Amino acid sequence: MLAVDSRLATTVLQDLIRIPSVNPDLVSGAEGETQIAGYIADKLRGWGLAVQVQETAERRPNVIATLKGSGGGRTLLFNGHMDTVGVEGMAEPYSGKVRDGRVYGRGAIDMKGSLAATMAATKGLIDGGPTLRGNVIFTYVTDEEYASVGTTAIADDIRQGRLPRPDGAVNTEATGLRVGVGHKGFVWLEVVTEGKAAHGSRPDLGVDAITHMGKVLVELGRLQERLTTGDRHPLLGVGSVHASLVDGGREMSSYPDHCTLKLERRTVPPETADGVADELKQIVFRLSTEDPTFRARSRVTLVRNPWQADPRSEIVRTTAAAIEAVTGEPAETMTTTGWLDSALLGEAGIPTVICGPCGEGLHAAVESIDVASLGTCAEVYAEIIQQFCS
Ligand SMILES: [Zn+2]
Repeated sequence: MLAVDSRLATTVLQDLIRIPSVNPDLVSGAEGETQIAGYIADKLRGWGLAVQVQETAERRPNVIATLKGSGGGRTLLFNGHMDTVGVEGMAEPYSGKVRDGRVYGRGAIDMKGSLAATMAATKGLIDGGPTLRGNVIFTYVTDEEYASVGTTAIADDIRQGRLPRPDGAVNTEATGLRVGVGHKGFVWLEVVTEGKAAHGSRPDLGVDAITHMGKVLVELGRLQERLTTGDRHPLLGVGSVHASLVDGGREMSSYPDHCTLKLERRTVPPETADGVADELKQIVFRLSTEDPTFRARSRVTLVRNPWQADPRSEIVRTTAAAIEAVTGEPAETMTTTGWLDSALLGEAGIPTVICGPCGEGLHAAVESIDVASLGTCAEVYAEIIQQFCS
């Protein structure tokens, strides 16, 4: 087994936590990824990797670093995001302190720990690893916590041949050192009911758009019941629907002429965005046939597809073998409910797996990573690279 310096993983993680990189699309005026990208790029360049910095939007740089092999081997992609969610309510968001075997701070587990693990694995391979034949491309990306602009740019580069097409990809989000093989998707939708404004004393003239939206909400409750008791996906369970935001009306003594509902539909395969859009259109259609004054329109505003790994793919099998080789325990598989950038890599036709360390407090007031798992994770990454690219 290749010796990977776990202390290096910890000190790099502490450095990364101490560089704020809150996503400015989530928290206006936040730093974004410029400074943390500079740190990662400098370090990897210093270790001899070919490093390219790619602007995905103004002051939102991706870092693309290549560890070059001798030729003739398979190309492996590692993908992880540099941005974090906000720090409101956190006592010590940027301390990076180690306490009781854990490193604390925003991004510790989501997901600066994983970035540090890829870097420590890289250093281990440079210092003492076997000669690799294939190239390893590390992509440290922007904006996963908002619109995934960073990984979208990487996937576009691969589709259009500006980056070599990898034979496998590891999305390094935390999985508790298990093999991540799937996650749910989501679709954002909007419904607008149209009423008729009139004086509150004139029910003969007014049409109440808000009570009409009430009918839509009742139907969404019924849809949720049908989803709960419907067909289950073997790994990901069932889809779901919830109302997110509602807005309507102008003042007390008037019939409201419109009401807008924004809702989210979480999806599992084989559910599609088109199918989900139809589901809502049918609800609107049925309500309008029952009541001639009911008028509404619906539309899709954002689509993020569910994703499932091919369990027979080389990258899934290699990741399981690497976890077993490093830990001495059989590798477990897992899925996540939340959507991840792995779907974008999968949709670009790259066999993908998710694998990262153990920790807790993603998006919460206290976030931490287990230091022992950070070192193990770095060893697992080094092992995956050796098995896949030798
Ligand atoms: Zn994340």
